[in-house]
Amino acid sequence: MRGVVVKAYNSYYYVQTGDKLTMCTLRGRFKKERFSLFVGDEVEYLPLDEGKGVIETILPRRSMLKRPMVANVDQVMLTFAAASPDPSFIIIDRFLILAELSQLNTLICLNKADLADASETGQIVDLYRQIGYSVLATSVKTGQGIGELRCQLYGRITVFAGPSGVGKSSLLNAVEPGLSLVTGEVSTKIGRGKHTTRFAELLPLAGGGFVVDTPGFSFTEFADIAPSELARAFPEIAAAALGCKFNTCLHYKEPQCAVKQAVTEGRIAASRYASYLEVLSEVQENRKGY
Ligand code: GDP
Ligand code: ZN
Repeated sequence: MRGVVVKAYNSYYYVQTGDKLTMCTLRGRFKKERFSLFVGDEVEYLPLDEGKGVIETILPRRSMLKRPMVANVDQVMLTFAAASPDPSFIIIDRFLILAELSQLNTLICLNKADLADASETGQIVDLYRQIGYSVLATSVKTGQGIGELRCQLYGRITVFAGPSGVGKSSLLNAVEPGLSLVTGEVSTKIGRGKHTTRFAELLPLAGGGFVVDTPGFSFTEFADIAPSELARAFPEIAAAALGCKFNTCLHYKEPQCAVKQAVTEGRIAASRYASYLEVLSEVQENRKGY
């Protein structure tokens, strides 16, 4: 039998095949090889009695997300609110940097569209679509965009990330009512033990595919970024940078910089360049300690 590891708990691996869940142990030789098995891994197992089984083979991984440790994640759904909390370009761009550097396909969801002015939401949607991202405007309240979101999730493993309170849990409940995730105040959620488990768990979707139950990235990852790498996390800046005179150009004070030229001409959004400069100064500051 073939399946996906959705949970690791008390030395058992829970393997999902269709809507069947099997409690598996690992064949002894994997332990000797110190092979690590993660949630998200595809495995072949031998079914035994009473819903138990033994994992025999671990199939090759397509990707490996580090924090949280999840194998075979296909995409990141970065979620923000169109209002309450009001969207902030720097926060959106910070999440985008982490998503870009994780090399996973990145989508943007702008939730709570019911609370915002449609033309303001539209401007943000257009800005990020022009850069090349898929952007959805959704509302759990009116149902706007929920069908589209469901289509994006089916058949794939998705990690949701974004600030708290933007409606990630509410969106997942709207997509898949069976999930019954706790929504509301962050403190209440922690109180009810939502994020007290150390390991991520995959939640199956009726139409196939899974969502990861943790909030995704942590901001500590910025510490690892070299100043010269940062532009790679901004697709439109990376593209314009091909025209800079110096290939070491950081697009800050250097002369004949094609990126600054593109900002002046409005081909790169001022908000994106401002986010780039802010994070550039942070990663340069980090390097000074070395
Ligand atoms: P999370 O922290 O990102 O998981 O956010 P929650 O799902 O807990 O939602 C935070 C609050 O926003 C809750 O009170 C939700 O009822 C509310 N909320 C979520 N989505 C929407 C939406 O589309 N429209 C409106 N008006 N409120 C929403
Ligand atoms: Zn430049």
